[in-house]
Formats: sequence, structure tokens, C-alpha cells
Amino acid sequence: MSAYRDGDKVVVLLPSRLSKAEEEQWIATLLQRLAERERRRRPSDDDLFTRALELSRRHLGGRAEPASVRWVDNQHARWGSCTPDDATIRLSTRLRGMPPWVLDYVLVHELAHLLIPGHGPDFWALVGRYPKAERARGYLEGVAATAHLPLGLDDADELDDARRSVAG
Ligand SMILES: [Zn+2]
Repeated sequence: MSAYRDGDKVVVLLPSRLSKAEEEQWIATLLQRLAERERRRRPSDDDLFTRALELSRRHLGGRAEPASVRWVDNQHARWGSCTPDDATIRLSTRLRGMPPWVLDYVLVHELAHLLIPGHGPDFWALVGRYPKAERARGYLEGVAATAHLPLGLDDADELDDARRSVAG
């Protein structure tokens, strides 16, 4: 039994032996699970903030303390950014719908910037505490390459690298 979205329709698969009442009950359950799954994939600003605090606690000893975390849709060349001065973090809405562990990686990356500004060895050691860091970086590079986007993770240096590689 399952429910999934196909364009603007929701398809619910059920065995034919169910009674009408059972069928209705299962449809309600499956639709609720689908909604929960989609919510996890499209977290709100509040969800992002809560998640960031949890990730900081779990992987960075709680030392990174963001003041706010929110979605922005004006970041065309970056997945995320942060301003250490006021401890704000922003994520590109392009990340919406990506697997939660990829989103978590971008959050951990930006949280780590609240503690270490650049991309030196210390920074990568900190980010590496998140177990799926390497895998998530590969995933994002793959998405950027497939879409032919010069997307860097956040900072100007990465963006410049991407522009250089696009320029040849
Ligand atoms: Zn960075």
C-alpha cells in the first residue's frame, strides 16, 4: 500500500480485497503519511531553525548558535549563505525537495561558518563531523553540473572557482 504524487494527482495503491470502510481508512492514513513526508522535504523557516539547533547540538557541540535561519529565493549562485556578525543563515529555495541529509549538510556547512569564516582545513574538519558531508557535497555538485549552473556552496571563492571552470 502506498500513496505518491503524479503531477497534480495523488495515486493511492491498495489491495482489492479491502472493504469500503477499510479502504477509506487506509486512504486517510496514506494521505496523512504523504503530507508528513512532503513536510519533511519542504520544511518551513521555523522547521529550518529547529533543525539547525539540533544539528549544531549533535555535530558541533552546540557551539554554533544561529539567530535565524530562513529560505531565500534570490540566491542563484549559492546554496546557502551566512552572516557571522548577526548569526543569520539563509538557504536557497533551490534546495527544497532535495533529500533531508543534503539540506542538513548545507545547514551544518553554514553553521560551521558561524565559528570559522573561511574554507581552511579547520573548517573542513568541523564540517566533516557531519557523517554525510562528502556524500552531500557530491550530490550538490552533481545537481549543479546537470543543471549547468555555476553553483558554489556559498562564498565568493567557491563561486569564482565555479565561474573559472565554466569559463574553461
Ligand atoms: Zn562555505
